[in-house]
Amino acid sequence: MLNLSRAALRPDLAILSMAGLLDARPRVGYYATGRKSSDIFAGLLADIRIGDEQSRPIVIRETSSVYDAVVTMFMEDVGSLIVVSEGDYIEGIISRKDLLKAAIGPKNLTELPVKVVMTRMPNIIMATAQESVLRGAQRLIEHQIDTLPVVEPVYVDGQERFRVIGRFTKSNITQLFVRLAQE
Ligand code: ADP
Repeated sequence: MLNLSRAALRPDLAILSMAGLLDARPRVGYYATGRKSSDIFAGLLADIRIGDEQSRPIVIRETSSVYDAVVTMFMEDVGSLIVVSEGDYIEGIISRKDLLKAAIGPKNLTELPVKVVMTRMPNIIMATAQESVLRGAQRLIEHQIDTLPVVEPVYVDGQERFRVIGRFTKSNITQLFVRLAQE
C-alpha cells in the first residue's frame, strides 16, 4: 500500500518495536502491541530514578542568619536552601518567599536565624534516590513546591533522621524533558 520495499521500512519498524508500539514474531511479522505512546512515556518516566537526575544539595546550617541565606541563594543561583544540622541531617527548607517575608518590617537580617523563618521538620516533603522521577514530579505538583530534598534515612541513637544527599527540582524535570525529546 505504501509502495515501499521492506528494506526501506525496516529502520522505522525497528524504532516502533524499540518504542514498544510494535512487536515481531517469526513467520507472523510485525504486529501492533496495542500500547499507546502515552503509556510508553509514563512507563519510561516511572523507570527513571530521582538519583539519576538529582542535583547536588545546596545547604546552610540552621544557625546561619537570614542575611547569609540571601547571599548563599544568590551565589549558588538556587531558589531554595536546605537547612541542615551537623552531620547533614535535614532540619528545614527556606525558599525565596520565606526570605522576602522575613525582610518585611524593621528587622536586622544579620541577626535573625534562618530557623525562625524556615519550614521545619516534620513538615518537609522529601524523596529518596530510588523513587521514580514521576513520583517526585507528582509530589512537587501536589504540594505546590519547587524542591524536594533527596534524603537517606538513618538511625541516630535510636531516632530516625534524614541525611541530605541531593535535591530534585522543577529544573531537573525540565532538563530531563528536553533530553528525552532529543534522544
Ligand atoms: P517560592 O518561595 O519560590 O514560592 P516554593 O514554592 O518551593 O518556593 O516554596 C513555598 C513554600 O513552601 C515556602 O514557605 C517553603 O518554605 C515551603 N517549601 C518549599 N519546599 C518544601 C518542601 N520540600 N517541603 C515542605 N515545604 C516546602
